[in-house]
This record gives sequence, C-alpha cells and structure tokens, in this order.
Amino acid sequence: MARPVKLRCVAQLPNVGFFKPAGIPVNALEGVRLSVEEVEAIRLKDLECLEQEECAEKMHVSRPTFHRILESARKKLADALINGKAIQIEGGNFELLQRRFRCGNDGHEWDVPFEAVAQKLPLSCPRCLSGNIQPMPLPPFGLGRGCGRRFRGGRRW
Ligand SMILES: [Zn+2]
Repeated sequence: MARPVKLRCVAQLPNVGFFKPAGIPVNALEGVRLSVEEVEAIRLKDLECLEQEECAEKMHVSRPTFHRILESARKKLADALINGKAIQIEGGNFELLQRRFRCGNDGHEWDVPFEAVAQKLPLSCPRCLSGNIQPMPLPPFGLGRGCGRRFRGGRRW
C-alpha cells in the first residue's frame, strides 16, 4: 500500500492549466506534467521571491520537502522550455487555501482566504454590497470541487 502523502497548502490555483509550443499539433507533442503544488512552489519562490523557509511554512511542509518540490518543478519547466514540450498542470496532493466569489449584481470577483471562509462566509459584494454572491466553481485541474477539500490524483496525461 502506498504511504499516505501529506497534503501541501496552496494559496491559489494557476490561471491556465495547459501550455504548448506554437505551431505544433498537440498529438505530435511530448509533455511534462506539473502538479498544482509544484506550480505553487515556483510562484512562492521565483515570483514572490520568498525565502525557502517562508515558502515551506506557507505550504505547511518541511524545508527539504519544499526544496524537493521546487527542484522537481524547475526541472520539468526547463525540460519543456529547452526541449519544446507542452506543460500540463493538474493533480497533486494539496489543499486550497482560498476561495473565489462572484457578485451576481455587477460581476465583481474577489478571493477570500480559506481561513476566513471557514470562519464566516462572505455575505455581500465588497464593491456594490449586493447580497447576490456565489462561490465560483474551481477551475478544472483534474480535481474535485469544494473548498478545503482534499484533492488527490487527477486525470491521466
Ligand atoms: Zn457587486
């Protein structure tokens, strides 16, 4: 039986789940698959430029584990860039730390940290104060739905 994997905390899901080199049909491409937590590691370290300790803390993993996730992500990205491969982002072992809401009145969208959602759901739009708001469905990363739920696995590449 597989050892249970500790879930990594992810503050936001990537906006795009698939990248490919221009001009090459998908079925002629090789691809690399990044998990959602690998993308989060890149975001924290390389985009927000946080120290590794901070990154590890934010994802609720040890520093060596964070380092391993980051190295794996960077290696896949390098492979894709240098060798012209597609990049698919999906799956992983993570918990989502925030939830996006949408106002039915003016279409305003905003993110609420998961801790806040868990304590108290937002009741009105922060822009127009309309009570006609709804949580957004999660983007399809080969995952289930719902906030704070445990996601595992994903579609096959
Ligand atoms: Zn509104």
